[in-house]
Amino acid sequence: MNLIKRRPFGKTGLHVTQVSLGAMNLRMLPSEKEARALVNHALDRGINLIDTARAYNGTTGDGKELESEIIVGQEVARRTDLTEPLIIVTKGHGYNPDAFDEHLSLSRRKLGLTAGPKGEILMGKNEIRLVYFFHGISRERWDEIASSGVIEHALKRRDEGLFTYLGFSSHTGHEECIAEALDTGVFQVVELPYNLFSPSFGQDQKGYGNFFKRIHDEGIALINMKAYAGNGMVERTKIFKDYCDISPANRLRFCLSSPWISTVDAGCRFPEELEENLRVSEMTPLSEAEQAVLIGEAAKVSGLIEGTCRECTHCLEKFTCPREINFPEILALAARYKMAEGFGQSTEPLRAAYGEIERGAEECIACGQCSPWCEYKLDIPPLMEEAHRLLA
Ligand code: SF4
Ligand code: SF4
Repeated sequence: MNLIKRRPFGKTGLHVTQVSLGAMNLRMLPSEKEARALVNHALDRGINLIDTARAYNGTTGDGKELESEIIVGQEVARRTDLTEPLIIVTKGHGYNPDAFDEHLSLSRRKLGLTAGPKGEILMGKNEIRLVYFFHGISRERWDEIASSGVIEHALKRRDEGLFTYLGFSSHTGHEECIAEALDTGVFQVVELPYNLFSPSFGQDQKGYGNFFKRIHDEGIALINMKAYAGNGMVERTKIFKDYCDISPANRLRFCLSSPWISTVDAGCRFPEELEENLRVSEMTPLSEAEQAVLIGEAAKVSGLIEGTCRECTHCLEKFTCPREINFPEILALAARYKMAEGFGQSTEPLRAAYGEIERGAEECIACGQCSPWCEYKLDIPPLMEEAHRLLA
C-alpha cells in the first residue's frame, strides 16, 4: 500500500495528504454503519485531513438522522493507532460574535472535543488541529463578518485555544467578497471549488488575478472542493457523465495537477471510491497542454449548464419550499433538457419524468424564498417558469 503524497498546508508547518476526506457525503449514505466505515477507511489509509461542517446533517438511506461532526468525532476518538495530529476542518454560520460562539461551541460539543493538560485539542486521546471556517461567505454574510467585529472575536477564541486555524469557504459568484476576505490577511486556510467545468479560481480573472496562485503565494492552505463538479458523489455527477465523456479520473487529475492546491477534498461514498481517488492521485500530473484540451471539452458542457441547477442538493439541507415543491428535482430535469437539446438527443424521457412529479413547477408562486439558499446563486422563480415551459 503506497503512502499518499503530502503537500505543505500553507504556512502552518503541517503537511497534508493531497487527497483528503470530505465528510459531507456521510449523511447521504445508505446507513450510519457505512458512514463510520468510510471515516475509518480514510484513517486506515493515512488520510490526515477530514472536512466536515455543522450543516452536514441529514437522513441516511435507512432513515436515521446523521450528523457528520458526531460521526467524525466518535470515530476519530475510538482510534488508538493514530501517530500524528489529524487536521479536522469544520464550519459554522456564526457571522457575528454571539452567533460565532454559539456555533463554535456546538461544533466542539458535537465533535466531542476536550482540552489536554497543555491546552491541546483532543478527540478521545488523539490530538487534533482544528480548522474553523466561516461557512460559505457571500456578500450578505461577508458584510456582517466585516462589520460585526467577529473576526477579532474569532482570533481571540483561536488564541484561547478553542481552535487552531481560522479560515473560510466560498463559491463562484462571490469573487468580490473572497478578495476582500483575503485582503484582511487573517485567514490561514481557504476552501474553494475547482474542477474542469468550473476552473475559474485557478485562472486569471479580470480584476482579481489568479485566486489560487494568490492564496498559495500568501502562504494560505488551500482545500479544493467539488473536484468532480457537484458534490462529488458519483451519482450526483451523472448530469455531466451523461453528456460528456471526460473520465472521473481525469477530473480528479486535473485538480491534483494544480501546484497551488494543498489538498483535494474529493468526493466519495464508499471505501472503493476512496481507493479509486487514491489510485488516481498516484498518476502523473496533467501537462498544461493536456489540461487545456480537457478544459475545452468540458467547456462544451459547461456552456450548456451555465445558469442551471447542478443537482448538488445543498439548498435542501437548510430549506424546504413552503409549497412543498421539490424545486431542485424540477430544475435538474430542465438542466438535462437543455443538455439533451444541445447534444441533439431526445428530450422525451425528461418530459415523461416531469409528468411523474407530484407537484410541478406550475405550483410555484414565485415567492423567491428558495433563491438565497442556492449555492450557485440561481434566481429560481424564472427558472421554474422556464422548466414548466420546456417540460410540460
Ligand atoms: S419560488 Fe417557488 S419553488 Fe421557490 S420557495 Fe417559492 S414556491 Fe417554492
Ligand atoms: S437549486 Fe441550487 S443549491 Fe439547489 S440543487 Fe440546484 S444548484 Fe444546488
